[in-house]
Amino acid sequence: MNILLIGIQGCGKGTQAKLLEERFGWKHITTGNLLRENFENKTELGIIAKKFMDAGELVPDKYVFQIVEDALAKVDEGSILDGFPRNMEQLRFLEKNFTIDKVILLDLSDEKAIERVSSRRNCIDCKKDYNLLYHKPKVEGICDVCGGKIVQRDDDYEDAIKKRIEKFYKETSEVITYFNEEGKLIRVNADDPIDTIQANIIKALDV
Ligand code: ADP
Ligand code: ZN
Repeated sequence: MNILLIGIQGCGKGTQAKLLEERFGWKHITTGNLLRENFENKTELGIIAKKFMDAGELVPDKYVFQIVEDALAKVDEGSILDGFPRNMEQLRFLEKNFTIDKVILLDLSDEKAIERVSSRRNCIDCKKDYNLLYHKPKVEGICDVCGGKIVQRDDDYEDAIKKRIEKFYKETSEVITYFNEEGKLIRVNADDPIDTIQANIIKALDV
């Protein structure tokens, strides 16, 4: 099964995708993380992409297509797409040789989204997600799992967050409309506890 998790920044796509990956073994493909990994490994693509990311802009499609193509080539059992496709060009690229079975829209208000994104943090080493509002590390600034330093993403400042949310309504909402018309869209309330959302996704997927 190939599914797409879609929704505004901070809706919890990454958290839900990881849980689904653990449970069903589908591969979690997230363009944001792949781009950040590229930057950490100092690839040419990563260095170019970082400038767009830090400004809250979308990375040009030709770079995103390269990483998505590589990631999709490794899919066998199934996959969970997270962060791709974000616009109609990306959707057309994907649908050339890939079929998405179901799309989960994680529904969250703008206010909640901004609040969540501005308080999210990650471990610099193991990348574990934290949120200062919901699940803080036990010791301030230090990862519970590996002792690494906890930092904020360079693009999680207010202007960049607002820009990304604007892009979501301008470009990604067309992708949502498309899947709704295809009869593949399932709406799940994203303003619930993590476990409840996960249970609702699994119920909706009927797996
Ligand atoms: P968020 O959901 O908060 O926007 P992501 O980690 O999904 O965070 O994405 C971070 C940044 O990576 C985006 O602002 C954008 O610059 C880039 N990016 C991720 N996915 C795509 C994509 N499909 N197309 C273009 N740029 C992307
Ligand atoms: Zn860690």
